[in-house]
Amino acid sequence: MKNNCLFCAITAGEIPSFKVYEDDVVLAYLDINPFSEGHTLVVPKAHSAGLLDTDDATLAAVVARVRKVAAHLKDVLGCDGFNIMQNNGEAAGQTVMHLHFHIIPRYAGKAFSFAGEKGDMDKLKALAERIAF
Ligand code: 5GP
Ligand code: ZN
Repeated sequence: MKNNCLFCAITAGEIPSFKVYEDDVVLAYLDINPFSEGHTLVVPKAHSAGLLDTDDATLAAVVARVRKVAAHLKDVLGCDGFNIMQNNGEAAGQTVMHLHFHIIPRYAGKAFSFAGEKGDMDKLKALAERIAF
């Protein structure tokens, strides 16, 4: 596995993903254990473990993409709001040690919990095909 890192392996195409957006800086794809419909990870192509070992220029570029993808999700999914989550360190719930931002669409009046449930792969595939840009 590239860099012994799951998200580097996904970027390298060694492991498939349900792609939502890609450019030279990031790859964004659906989380396979979504908190809500459209839960998307925005992942820089360059490896860093988290916020503290990412240089300012890369971080600024990644956050610009987070906003771009969030704006798109809001348009295409019609969500009422969204949470941005970015975990650092095991104690904070980080399980993949490659910087990533969660975009978690929120729907007014819909029950919600910050606990992912294993997604239905066919539904995730269909959703990614519908919302990819
Ligand atoms: P963390 O807890 O590190 O902030 O988030 C890691 C996220 O990656 C989790 O929400 C988890 O569901 C997701 N994840 C783990 N393995 C895979 C995978 O193989 N593909 C995708 N798309 N997401 C994954
Ligand atoms: Zn990595």
